Amino acid sequence: MTNEVDVTPIEKDFFARSPEEQSDFLQQTWCNQCMEMDLGMKNPQEFEAGERNWIEGECVKCGSKVVTELVFEDDEE
Ligand SMILES: [Zn+2]
Repeated sequence: MTNEVDVTPIEKDFFARSPEEQSDFLQQTWCNQCMEMDLGMKNPQEFEAGERNWIEGECVKCGSKVVTELVFEDDEE
């Protein structure tokens, strides 16, 4: 047994999210090719691996892969 755990990403249903969340996530992007933010993404797929959650899609402008890491804020008041 080792402490190193290879977590296989699980695909989640992005479209199960509320329409507001979906449009937020689809708009709030960063593209490494265009070096621009909020260009938008298409063909979103959501993944989960361990405690990480992210959405992968394609840049609306150039079509390259964009990844949006989901950050959950808890207990913030
Ligand atoms: Zn792009």
